[in-house]
Amino acid sequence: MKNRAKCKLCQSIIESFHSTDYVMCKCGEIAVDGGAGLKCYAKTWDNFIRIDDNGNELIVTATDIPDRSPLDGQAKPTRKEMIDMLDEMVKNIERLPEAALSSPITHYDHLSLILLLSSILRSDD
Ligand SMILES: [Zn+2]
Repeated sequence: MKNRAKCKLCQSIIESFHSTDYVMCKCGEIAVDGGAGLKCYAKTWDNFIRIDDNGNELIVTATDIPDRSPLDGQAKPTRKEMIDMLDEMVKNIERLPEAALSSPITHYDHLSLILLLSSILRSDD
């Protein structure tokens, strides 16, 4: 299953693509990390909605809440890190079998890409 989630507050849909891919929603309420490891964080779990591979929204029940949210004082990814994410996305797509390359992407995939590009363009460093 893809490590994808939606923030109830800002409606951002975020996805972690690999083990070091830490992605926070626009308002900083939730985050996903660790790619397929499905690591995730939320200031309030009520605002965290898991999105499954078919785009369905799943309500999660948090059972393992860390003492301290890593969102506290966590630096946003730098421009370079976000560009690395883009490069990683390109590599992942290039590794796909030919049949998969001709299959359509979903609006969620499209949205994650646009959000990443938008964050890069907005970052000043
Ligand atoms: Zn948010």
